[in-house]
Amino acid sequence: MFTSFLIKYAEIGVKGKNRYLFEDALVRQIKHVLKKCEGSFQVRKTDGRIYVDAVSKFDYEETVAYLQKVFGISGICPVVSVEDEGFEKLGERVVKYLDEVYPDKHKTFKVVARRARKNYPMDSMEINAQMGGVILGAYPEMRVDVHEPDIMLHIEIRDKIYIYSEIIPGPGGMPVGTGGKAMLLLSGGIDSPVAGYMIAKRGVKIDAVYFHAPPYTSERAKQKVVDLAKKVAQYTGPIYLHVINFTDIQMYIYDQCPHDELTIIMRRYMMRIAEHIAKETECLGLITGESIGQVASQTMHSLLATNEVCELPVYRPLIGFDKMEIVAISEKIDTYETSILPYEDCCTIFVAKHPVTKPNLKIINRHEQNLEEKIGELVQAALETEELIIVS
Ligand code: ATP
Ligand code: MG
Repeated sequence: MFTSFLIKYAEIGVKGKNRYLFEDALVRQIKHVLKKCEGSFQVRKTDGRIYVDAVSKFDYEETVAYLQKVFGISGICPVVSVEDEGFEKLGERVVKYLDEVYPDKHKTFKVVARRARKNYPMDSMEINAQMGGVILGAYPEMRVDVHEPDIMLHIEIRDKIYIYSEIIPGPGGMPVGTGGKAMLLLSGGIDSPVAGYMIAKRGVKIDAVYFHAPPYTSERAKQKVVDLAKKVAQYTGPIYLHVINFTDIQMYIYDQCPHDELTIIMRRYMMRIAEHIAKETECLGLITGESIGQVASQTMHSLLATNEVCELPVYRPLIGFDKMEIVAISEKIDTYETSILPYEDCCTIFVAKHPVTKPNLKIINRHEQNLEEKIGELVQAALETEELIIVS
């Protein structure tokens, strides 16, 4: 019965002169996801509103599910549109609409008419009053409540007439592509996919880098990261995933540095390499899934040590989150089940029994000098042999 959706957007409403840029980005993202849905659609922007009109048969559930992944959308209103055939016919259609959408009539309502087409013979106040009468006549068990109605029945008079009352929540945030691009350090864990999702939600386009260590980490571990990127890409659009072979670097650090500092020094090299790729691909920052105190490499001291090697800002959207809060988001965005698959992570393979929790910057820097001889060429080789996977 629904033929259109009215798309509500909150935050991008307040952007002054830039507003049209945001709206255009939102329209673009909506068109992009709708390509994946059955049916064809027209996406229109009129008077500060975005409408999605189905121009063929379509799958309602699927379409709503896809729209719920477009950042920038705060609400999705399924709309019934009818031709203007006079008020009496409109009244009949509204009565039928209420019957279809609300089988139980013990509800309060309010009619909110909007006359966008000024030559309509009644003004909005008249429509509200008369339509209220029509509804009460058809369903005596319904009551009017103008303050907190159960049903806010919208009637918009345009070239056609739109009837809607339901708002399905969208993901909120800002349309992807309005906020520059950042490089996500994506591992196979629970945290980093959530971190990428959260920054993308602010309108930022995401690329990713994954460090693997064959043969210590398997193809399956890599595939898991690709699968996670795919899940995140449903919200963010295509992700360029840079896969870096980290084995030789990791082995070299293992050979040359104290084992309790291995994780920290490895993390520093990951950050350096990620930053190098970020700068070459016009990313304006790095993103990690770190959260204070979660593991030894994420104490304040450790974060200081990891942060020291980067010039670009490092965004850590989960920094103050408990694991349970992160898990809740990963379940919501459907990455959790993939994240908990048991495949090995390159960080855990060589991990010391008692890694330092308060690394001393001076000492770390001194021990990194042990790497001077070969680390430059190893990093170079890792960059040159990167594998680029475009995930969409
Ligand atoms: P996650 O659940 O995201 O794997 P974690 O709790 O396992 O995080 P660490 O292993 O300490 O934490 O990693 C901290 C952050 O470093 C990760 O959130 C991720 O951003 C990045 N990272 C760790 N390992 C890798 C890797 N192999 N490739 C790319 N990034 C990584
Ligand atoms: Mg991890």
